[in-house]
Amino acid sequence: MRLGSLRAGLRKRAGAGAEVEAREWRGSVVLEGRARDWRSKVELGWYAAGFGYKGVVNDLEVEGLAPERPEAPGRPAGASLEGESFDVAVVGGGVVGCAIARELARWKVSVILLEKECDVAVHTSSRNDGMIHDGFAAKPGTLKARYNVEGNRLWGPLARELGIEFSRPGSLVLYDSRAAAALYPVMAARAAENRVEGWEFWGRGRVRAEEPGAPDSQRGGFFLPSAGVLSPYRATVALAECAAANGVRVSLETAVLGFDTEDARITRVRTNRGAFRAGAVVNAAGNWADHVAGYANDRFFSLHQRRGVDLVLDSRAGALQRHILAMPDLFQLHAKTKGGGLVVTTEGNVLVGPTAAEAPGREDYATSQAEMRELERHFRVNKLLSPSMVITYFAGVRPCTYEEDFVVERSDYVRNLVHAAGIQSPGLASAPAIAADVARSAIGILAERARVEPNPSFRAGRRAPVDPRRLSWEERAELVERRPDCGRIVCRCEEVSEGEVRDALRGLVPAASLDAVKRRTRAGAGRCHGGFCTPRVMEIIADEAGIPLPEVTKKGPGSPVALGRTKEAGRA
Ligand SMILES: Cc1cc2nc3c(=O)[nH]c(=O)nc-3n(C[C@H](O)[C@H](O)[C@H](O)COP(=O)(O)OP(=O)(O)OC[C@H]3O[C@@H](n4cnc5c(N)ncnc54)[C@H](O)[C@@H]3O)c2cc1C
Repeated sequence: MRLGSLRAGLRKRAGAGAEVEAREWRGSVVLEGRARDWRSKVELGWYAAGFGYKGVVNDLEVEGLAPERPEAPGRPAGASLEGESFDVAVVGGGVVGCAIARELARWKVSVILLEKECDVAVHTSSRNDGMIHDGFAAKPGTLKARYNVEGNRLWGPLARELGIEFSRPGSLVLYDSRAAAALYPVMAARAAENRVEGWEFWGRGRVRAEEPGAPDSQRGGFFLPSAGVLSPYRATVALAECAAANGVRVSLETAVLGFDTEDARITRVRTNRGAFRAGAVVNAAGNWADHVAGYANDRFFSLHQRRGVDLVLDSRAGALQRHILAMPDLFQLHAKTKGGGLVVTTEGNVLVGPTAAEAPGREDYATSQAEMRELERHFRVNKLLSPSMVITYFAGVRPCTYEEDFVVERSDYVRNLVHAAGIQSPGLASAPAIAADVARSAIGILAERARVEPNPSFRAGRRAPVDPRRLSWEERAELVERRPDCGRIVCRCEEVSEGEVRDALRGLVPAASLDAVKRRTRAGAGRCHGGFCTPRVMEIIADEAGIPLPEVTKKGPGSPVALGRTKEAGRA
């Protein structure tokens, strides 16, 4: 009955030239055939999601678009995993996988974190707004709403333990229509439903006093004080380092290529470093999580990609805005995204964005002028900011299920697999809460076969890197006395010293490329964007790694910065 009406509806919506079929599979629905174009494919997936199946597997083909496959990596240098054995393998070194690995370290179990790139936080976890959302925007009753609010509460103490900057500037949602006041009871009801605390309605005068740059057209706003900000890449690195300090093995340049299964259990994890045994497997593979689920024949959901682009304003912009600001369209409460705004960062920059557009490309970070133009409308929200303050821009890709909710659960069919998939926004805010649940499930799987003890030597913190900018002049002088390399400034825009770069290269999850150094220290993230510091940072990387300068890369294998020495090129 349900399948019949879904099929009829799909045919009606698919349009001329399309051929769409639907079949049921283990409580989910699989769409097969051909869609008119990408947009239509996504819309058909959303439509199918309205029929109450466990998940939608959207295998519709689109002419001219080959199904995306992960790149097949070669065998990297370094340790082999062949024949090894771990209690838990976590696939994916984004903020979710790293938070899960750290939670698992609370137990006396052996854990390996597998990341295909040469660093953690390379993909969505470094390409976002760094906002620890208050939880108001998430649809009530969803996992997103629940984990967002729980995660928001957890980030405060967690950031202190990890020694990373975290602040709660609060989020101020402005309105420029008199009709907005009629929505206040609806907003209050949603805040209460999502258990978001402390919100207030601010009148026009209060907004003007708090945010002098707010537009003259504003008629007040809704203030959510629990909204916070942090550096998403520093947070991810800190989680990974804390996990490593507690004995988790962090294996970079390690791509999971498949699983061997026996009796509905994963017995071996196959990677480009060899195959090993694992008692439980966690799938936190971001935009590839549906593929990874498929390796275990458990692909009961599929992901579509929602791109987001942000502009980055110079750090002087931060002094011109106190709160996270947005001025959404009035009736946006049911839209699939919040609509973007102006986010003050912990470093003093302001992020303008993000956009939200359905587009294929799981790792496509190209940006277009049209996307930049689209973002310019946000400048009206703070008239003290202007497009001349833009120093750079970036794109990220949100991994979304067709149900538009997270998948955080133990597999129904593979007895030792746990999914943390479809972690779109607010995934950063939710990560600590997701991690606690996923780690509990994985430990539960192990506990079915043997007793699992808490790890008495677990340390919640880590040795935070030195950050001279946060020190007083006296403390800085004392530091430079002890460590002269912390007095030699390498990146003038962000005031990063040679000592900090060297520390990043020697860390527990060591940086090995220019981008990895930037993620940890911000060398190259300032106004000149590496124009001055790049050669110096390259020299330090070459020195620490004992490699020739041309072997230093921007972001790992295949991304050389220098092609060779000019004099040698002249002789050739
Ligand atoms: C523009 C934009 C703005 C956003 N802003 C916010 C915000 O302000 N606040 C918020 O809460 N959320 C925000 N989000 C969402 C947030 O960034 C994500 O929810 C979060 O980063 C997802 O983390 P993850 O660990 O699941 O994924 P990822 O960071 O993508 O990590 C997954 C990792 O798995 C690895 N991997 C994949 N396949 C394999 C394999 N086979 N073997 C080994 N490794 C593999 C990948 O290389 C990747 O590093 C935003 C997203 C975007 C795009």
